[in-house]
Amino acid sequence: MRRQNPRPQQLALLLPNTERGRIVVTRALRSHRSCERVVERVRYVLRYFPEIGGTPIRVGLTRVANGMAVPGGNEIWLNPGHTSYHTIAHEFVHLLQRGGGVPRGERSCDVHSLARHWTLNDEAPSYVKIPPRLLQIDGKLTPTAARIVYEVACEALDRRQLGTRRYIAWFEERLVSVDCTSCTSLTLPTSRAS
Ligand SMILES: [Zn+2]
Repeated sequence: MRRQNPRPQQLALLLPNTERGRIVVTRALRSHRSCERVVERVRYVLRYFPEIGGTPIRVGLTRVANGMAVPGGNEIWLNPGHTSYHTIAHEFVHLLQRGGGVPRGERSCDVHSLARHWTLNDEAPSYVKIPPRLLQIDGKLTPTAARIVYEVACEALDRRQLGTRRYIAWFEERLVSVDCTSCTSLTLPTSRAS
């Protein structure tokens, strides 16, 4: 029996002109009530991943994990019940790891995703440690904490470029030592915070 292809006009309804062809959703996700919200979030995160924006990215549905990067393709699966920006960014970094541009491993994936943009740091990562004082009770980061984590992650990657092999441990240690008696009033250098 011949399988019907997804109808492009259905996808186009979800996406503005500039995004058409960049995000393709699987049939299962397309029929999910959260599809529009998921696509909206993927599109936002994709802004900060110009390396993978050139070819269409396929987005599917999973319920067994928060997210997964599918081997062998430009494809991620997301759990509609858990679509934090961080999860999406983390899965995008996995796609970059396959191309060899980012060192392998979950901890490396976390640090690289935390260094993309502070607005993507909306919840605690799963594999690197964030000091509890930077987290809210629900595990989310305040905007100020998100900026701090972003700044420190960027510096960790700078250090890696300069040859520091322990850049992930450095990242965790630096966060512990950040002077943050009141994170809502902490002021960061603005060079990278925009
Ligand atoms: Zn992962």
